[in-house]
Amino acid sequence: MTDATLSQLTSGAYEQALKVIESVEPRIAAATRQELLDQRGSLKLIASENYASPAVLLTMGTWFSDKYAEGTVGHRFYAACQNVDTVESLAAEHARELFGAPYAYVQPHSGIDANLVAFWSILANRVETPTLKRLDAKNVNELAEADWEALRHEFGNQRLLGMSLDAGGHLTHGFRPNISGKMFHQQQYGTDPETGLLDYDAVAAKAREFKPLVLVAGYSAYPRRVNFAKMREIADEVGAVLMVDMAHFAGLVAGKVFTGEEDPVPYAHITTTTTHKSLRGPRGGMVLAQEEFAADVDRGCPMVLGGPLSHVMAAKAVAFAEARTTEFQDYSQKVADNAKSLAEGFLTRGAELVTGGTDNHIVLLDVSSYGLTGRQAESALLDAGVVTNRNSVPSDPNGAWYTSGIRLGTPALTTRGFGHDEFDTVAELIVDVLSNTEAGTTKAGGPSKASYVLGDGVADRVTKRSGEMLDKHPLYPGLVLG
Ligand SMILES: *Cc1c(COP(=O)(O)O)cnc(C)c1O
Repeated sequence: MTDATLSQLTSGAYEQALKVIESVEPRIAAATRQELLDQRGSLKLIASENYASPAVLLTMGTWFSDKYAEGTVGHRFYAACQNVDTVESLAAEHARELFGAPYAYVQPHSGIDANLVAFWSILANRVETPTLKRLDAKNVNELAEADWEALRHEFGNQRLLGMSLDAGGHLTHGFRPNISGKMFHQQQYGTDPETGLLDYDAVAAKAREFKPLVLVAGYSAYPRRVNFAKMREIADEVGAVLMVDMAHFAGLVAGKVFTGEEDPVPYAHITTTTTHKSLRGPRGGMVLAQEEFAADVDRGCPMVLGGPLSHVMAAKAVAFAEARTTEFQDYSQKVADNAKSLAEGFLTRGAELVTGGTDNHIVLLDVSSYGLTGRQAESALLDAGVVTNRNSVPSDPNGAWYTSGIRLGTPALTTRGFGHDEFDTVAELIVDVLSNTEAGTTKAGGPSKASYVLGDGVADRVTKRSGEMLDKHPLYPGLVLG
């Protein structure tokens, strides 16, 4: 099918669908139209976002949403799941092929849910409780209350070592306020204070001393690649399970930009991911595992997760089929190349980057040299139509709310067709906004971490320049809503 025919069909499908929605709740139809216009008209640099294809989006809007399908393929707690079985098998098969994984579980609703399933299956697989051994229990329903009391103590309080939030790790990697930081006895590793880079010797030293059950690798805001062979070596030395959360960079793994020791799947016992970030699929999660964990991961639903979202599993199958093409590999390589162009664009204009650059899809800009907090920078940029998110930098003096950084990512604009020149201009526009923004004052007259003053005319000139680039690279070209 030609691109023009495809656009025409997509336009027709959405026009009709919006009319149906309008007949029930017109305000939702209006908001849906507006969201397209807003996404089309802004420079989306949020590193965790992307634009899924119309095929992926359309797959989500069907009657698969109406089906309950707890359990696994061929082994459901509900009747009449034959079509869900088709969808789930196909999504899992595509995932195994795409990532070279022995086993794939495509039910998790999100990245955080995938991590909960991973924790659950590691505990179920690896924790040997003396109480269960002593009782030789086959059926936990037969245990006495006192046995349960002992079991809870033996099963809980296991050790987890993960990357700290301010070094770029995720909340679910043992951050204290998160459930992962409460149910596990946790410790965190950071990055080298001088270089900002992961220090494998320091991780190994911590692991030797702490002897974790789970070593978590992966990140949300670290602009560099990780050597997973080294992480596995550390895990093996201390007898830990290596869990890699590739939520952010799964697209770069699928697209064969991260290969060899940078590909986590062959090295991790369990790999978790989202499907909607660089992988460019529907909003959701997934767990890949070595065979020994498969049976435990399979019990994720209903032990940890709610009923699977069959309509989203269908869309995962479509997205994975897209990701198995050479077009997707080209796209992923451009995502990484564009991040380099963006970083160079900043460095040549005197901006400061955490780790001094990037070799993945993320650029972490330290805005303190502009006299701003991340919060002020994020707001000023948004006024100029540049959508980013504030982010902590290592040992951030402004904490996790105000922060000192801005995290930028290339997956979304690369989908629109932005290349080297456009990303260089993006750096120029961001530097223009930040060097023309001043920190504001509080009502009492002191320095504020939130208010700011953006110079006259800056938002207009930036919006004009970015508008030219956005018009040249339209989002969903040919999609016209009547
Ligand atoms: C985004 C992210 C998650 C959470 O994904 P959700 O789909 O929002 O639940 C988990 N881990 C990492 C590393 C992430 O970047």
